[in-house]
Formats: sequence, structure tokens, C-alpha cells
Amino acid sequence: MKSFLPGSTIGILGGGQLGRMLAQAAKPMGYKVLTLDPSENSPCGQVADLQIVAKFSDLIAAKEFSQKCEVATIEFENVDAKAVELIEKQGILVRPSSKVLHVTQNRLRQKEFLRGIGIGTANFRKIGKEGRRSNSKDATKIELQFPAILKTASLGYDGKGQWIIANGKEVQKIVLKNQGVEFILEEKVDFQKEISIVGARGVDGKIVVYPVSENVHKNGILDTTIVPAGISRKIEIEAQKIIKKIAVKFDYVGVLCVEMFLLQNGKLLVNEIAPRTHNSGHYSIDACKVSQFEQQVRAVCGIKLEKPQLQSACCMANILGDGSGNVLKGTEKLLLEKNVYLHLYGKTDAKKNRKMGHFTVLAKTPKLAFEKAQKLRKYLKWAKK
Ligand code: ATP
Ligand code: MG
Repeated sequence: MKSFLPGSTIGILGGGQLGRMLAQAAKPMGYKVLTLDPSENSPCGQVADLQIVAKFSDLIAAKEFSQKCEVATIEFENVDAKAVELIEKQGILVRPSSKVLHVTQNRLRQKEFLRGIGIGTANFRKIGKEGRRSNSKDATKIELQFPAILKTASLGYDGKGQWIIANGKEVQKIVLKNQGVEFILEEKVDFQKEISIVGARGVDGKIVVYPVSENVHKNGILDTTIVPAGISRKIEIEAQKIIKKIAVKFDYVGVLCVEMFLLQNGKLLVNEIAPRTHNSGHYSIDACKVSQFEQQVRAVCGIKLEKPQLQSACCMANILGDGSGNVLKGTEKLLLEKNVYLHLYGKTDAKKNRKMGHFTVLAKTPKLAFEKAQKLRKYLKWAKK
């Protein structure tokens, strides 16, 4: 069992906010951080000790990356699989491994994996590149009901690359406009709630799980998370069983998150697996003894994992850009509030729907935290100057 002691350099593939918060957890633990990202002034690059500015497909940069770190992880799952394999070939452990990333990078492979280990998902079909329904024997045999959601099989995030579909003709149109792209068509699930669970598996196989989050999305983008979720103990245990099964079957090392739909009949279906820390786990920075980011450092470096220990009910609210300006006004109101914690990611261009930051409110109950978050949000406004 290989472990990496303080003083070692953790390489992070990706330079976004998840990498930034990972670096912010790693540094007080005595680790150095290297990041690789295509943009100059990435959120993680701003706080990392070292950065390489290059495309994820740049194999020379991947080699340089492996020479400058002792162990590696990802904060963005769509890094080039070839680059990850090359890093592994250079003798650097990537946690989670390229094998896991190969499955999770593609929505079809992911859903086939889940079905293969007996975990329920929305009914789905592969839509071949030519626009016809594929005969893939792995895809579910059940006829799909409309409305459905068409998603690109790879490279989607924050609801990008998704279309709500009313009938088969609409599918054809979109596929014809996007020649050469592989799609998945999923039945639209009539869910009661969306929940997610973050967990980590260490090199010794020990798994720790975070309390289940209850998530509200707007326009396919996470808006708020409350913890603990308003679900029964039975459903919580079921969610824990699901994440543990996935982690074991993958022989996973690192942090992962499983997004789920809670159906009207109380059943859980998995929406997707994120092979990394997750936006719905950001609450753990301020509401848990061990955040998802510290847990990632522990798992990746081979240190014993620690129970998260939720300290308070809470609500995490995302701060998105709206395209009206790059200066965020009103933060002083939040900074004065007790039990409110602001996190901005250092992004300069507040494009519409871009995740710019978040804040977490701790309160007696999730409902009180949610209500306070809604009130505080009104103070935040984007402006030109
Ligand atoms: P992210 O990276 O932010 O998790 P994503 O682009 O990977 O998003 P999904 O998680 O697949 O996208 O979808 C985003 C949201 O759209 C879901 O959280 C859910 O609210 C809704 N959604 C996606 N698929 C379905 C479905 N089959 N039925 C009902 N709602 C869905
Ligand atoms: Mg999702």
C-alpha cells in the first residue's frame, strides 16, 4: 500500500474550482500542488505551487506533469484518457485510475456498467452516429417513453449538450445537425427529489460516506443543496449501499459522487457517477469535520480516511454568472453574517450560468438554512463596475 507523506506533490488534472478547493485543503496538510489546465489563470492555478498550461490532449505536457508530481488525481473527468494512461505508464498512480475514467467519461458505458452490477437507471437507448437507434445489445430492450432527454454520450456538464425530446422526429433533427456525435436517449424520469451522495474509498478498501444531499437544479445546473436530505433512513441506507457497491466494483481509490433520482414510489435510480468531488458536496467544507476535499487528499495520498462528521444542518447555494458584469456586489452582507461562509473561485469572466462561487449557511434545520440562503442571495448582484 503506497502512501505519500506531507512534502509530496499532488498533481491535479484540471484547474477549475474543484481543483482550487482541493489545493486549499492539501496545503495546510503539508502537500504541494501541481495543476495542468489549458487556461493561464485557472482557479486552481491561482493557488497551486506549480502549474502547466497546456491542453489535456498534449502528451508532452502530460509527461512533464508526471515528472513534477508524486501522485495524481483529477478534478475534471473529461481529461484525455490517453494522457492519463501515459501518466500511469510513467509510474505515477492516478487515483481514480484511467480504467475508471474510461467508463465514467461516457454516459452509455456508465449506464451499461450500472445496469451490469444491478443498479437501476432511467431506461435508455444508444443513438448511433447516423441518427438511428443502435442495435447495441447492451442497451435496454424496453421501448422508450417520451418525453425523453437526448444527451451527448461524452463531454457534457452542467446540462450542456442536452435536449428535451417530445418525439422520435426531434431526435433525428438534432442528430443530423451534429454529425459524428454519439448520443444517449434517456426517458425523462418523474422524480420526487434529486439526491446525491459523496463517498471516498481508501487504498485499504475502507469506504466513508457523507450524509445524503438533497439537490435542486435549475436549467440543468445545480442551484441549491440541503443537508440532511428530507428522506427516510431506509432510502439513506439504500443510497449508501449503491455508492459502496460502485466503489467496490471499480476497485476505486479517491472521492466519488453518485447523483440519484428518488422516484414517487420510493425507488432510487442512478442519474450519474462523478469520479471526483462534487458541487453537491461543497457543504462539507463548512459543515463537516472532514471536507470532501480533505478526504480526497487522504484517499489519493493513501492516508487513513476519516468519518465526515456533520456538525450542522446546512444549505449550499451556487453563485452563477448572469452575463451582466464581472463584479459581484453585496458580498459584504454575507461576510457579516454569522454561520455563513462565502467561497469565490477567482474566475474573472462571469458568463451567464458559469459557476463563479457558492456560499453555505449553517442553521438549526435544513429548511431554516434554505430560507436564509434564499434571503442572502438577493443581496448578490453582478455589475459592470
Ligand atoms: P452535471 O455535470 O452538472 O451533473 P450533467 O450535464 O452531467 O450535469 P445530468 O446530471 O445528466 O447532466 O443532468 C442535469 C440535470 O438534468 C439533472 O440533475 C436533472 O435535474 C435533469 N435530468 C437529467 N437527466 C434526466 C432524466 N433522465 N430525467 C429527468 N431529469 C433529468
Ligand atoms: Mg449531473
